[in-house]
Amino acid sequence: MYDVIIIGSGITGAFIAHFLAKYDIKVLVLEKDVEVSDGVTKANSAIIHSGYDPKPNSLKAKLNVLGNKMYGDITKELNVNFKRIGSYTLAFDKEEEVQLKKLYQQGNKNKVETYLLGKKELRAKEPNIKETVRLGLYAPTTGIIAPWEIVYALLENAIYNGVELKTNHEVIDIKKEKNIFCVKTKENTYYTRYVINASGLFAHKITQMVTNDVDYEMRYTRGQYYVIDRGYDDYVNSVIYPTPTNKGKGVLIVPTIHGNILLGPTSEIVDNPNDTEVTKDGLHYIKEHIDYMMNHTPYKGIIRSFSGIRPKTSREDFIIEELKDVKHFIQVAGIESPGLASAPAIAKMVEDSLLKKEQLPMKSDYRVYKQKNLKISEKPIDEINRLIKQNPKYGKIICRCESITEGEIIDAIKGPLGIKTVDGIKRKVRPGSGRCQGGFCQPLIIEILARELKVRKTDILLNNVGSNILIVETKQSGGEK
Ligand SMILES: Cc1cc2nc3c(=O)[nH]c(=O)nc-3n(C[C@H](O)[C@H](O)[C@H](O)COP(=O)(O)OP(=O)(O)OC[C@H]3O[C@@H](n4cnc5c(N)ncnc54)[C@H](O)[C@@H]3O)c2cc1C
Repeated sequence: MYDVIIIGSGITGAFIAHFLAKYDIKVLVLEKDVEVSDGVTKANSAIIHSGYDPKPNSLKAKLNVLGNKMYGDITKELNVNFKRIGSYTLAFDKEEEVQLKKLYQQGNKNKVETYLLGKKELRAKEPNIKETVRLGLYAPTTGIIAPWEIVYALLENAIYNGVELKTNHEVIDIKKEKNIFCVKTKENTYYTRYVINASGLFAHKITQMVTNDVDYEMRYTRGQYYVIDRGYDDYVNSVIYPTPTNKGKGVLIVPTIHGNILLGPTSEIVDNPNDTEVTKDGLHYIKEHIDYMMNHTPYKGIIRSFSGIRPKTSREDFIIEELKDVKHFIQVAGIESPGLASAPAIAKMVEDSLLKKEQLPMKSDYRVYKQKNLKISEKPIDEINRLIKQNPKYGKIICRCESITEGEIIDAIKGPLGIKTVDGIKRKVRPGSGRCQGGFCQPLIIEILARELKVRKTDILLNNVGSNILIVETKQSGGEK
């Protein structure tokens, strides 16, 4: 019997698990995918927005501003990469200028530090902004992070402090009898006093399992991106936004925490929450909108494209509430942008709402599990040599583009999350994120995973069930032809 079951291991579920790990209660996280952070949280702009953009007095505004502030301490505590690189929102015509001045007022209402800057100051800071720029809104608190890195760190810390995680456990039904929820997955049945529904694109489906009274509709909008290789640091220093429209924040330029640049996203309504297709039209749209704002965009450095789906609802704000007709069922739905930036504050709100009723006891032996942030190749040479002496596998480079060693990959497999897939390893330690996109290292990763997990290479998955990369061993006696 659990006290709390959290459904979903994206940024929302991970932050909730992290905060609840301090209490002396039994907490279980159920995730349908084979790895954590494989939903909306894996494919977005990775910006910790400052908070001037959401409508004043909305939950989005309140939680974005608070969440942005909270990221500083939490990333320091867990030793996760996070940088406040600031952002410029740009206006190129009279109409956009008027809109930007309104945004500045809105920023003041939301209590976000912002400054209006003219063309000269903007181009001094970001020389590749077009000469046609008229006005810019500078927000120094805008930050960047690798979303899955913080999820991995939060969940590793939660597991270290007693929270249980079961991946590949899709919740298929929930019943409530005499104040106890019976939560069914394809594999098992679990009992709990509280359910927290943090299931992203599928939040309404989970809520429908306990009530007929779901008062919102889900809408999905796809955002496509280009990824530019590392090594184009002189292109931009900060996040660049266009003036937002009623379709959203628009097509952005985002330096990533690992030195790449993202261009995107688009905003297209799709019917299917799994429709992450990348299209010629989408990519063309990105270029068109980037060229409106910037000179010298290093398109020659593009190494990948991808897309993510936003979980919007008809209520248009975050929905964070206990169901009126089902006590102890807390839904955390409609967590679209700025959901990543707001996640710590969303989790705090959930924590407070539980605590208000429960007066939960604190754990006496809570300890923080800090990320090692090994990154062997970036350490001083003496330390690299010392580590290689301890474990020669730290001296064997597997991913040449990102200089990732076999030792780092094995640490990821043996770590608290027990990573099993090629994409899981990529998110944890980055092999396959570089210029060759895994062309060189993927077969080696499969080999290491199979050896460490003691399974066949043909059992190794790219990400989810059914995504096996190898189908049959060649050159084996009696093997399939
Ligand atoms: C294109 C795009 C750009 C964005 N850019 C930004 C940005 O720059 N800054 C920002 O603040 N926000 C941004 N966002 C929003 C942000 O990514 C989301 O708000 C956030 O990732 C949502 O996290 P989540 O944990 O709520 O959902 P998810 O990450 O989707 O996690 C939900 C989890 O629940 C699991 N699940 C679903 N159903 C079940 C089930 N039945 N049983 C068990 N598990 C289940 C899923 O597999 C998933 O892992 C962007 C979003 C998109 C799509």
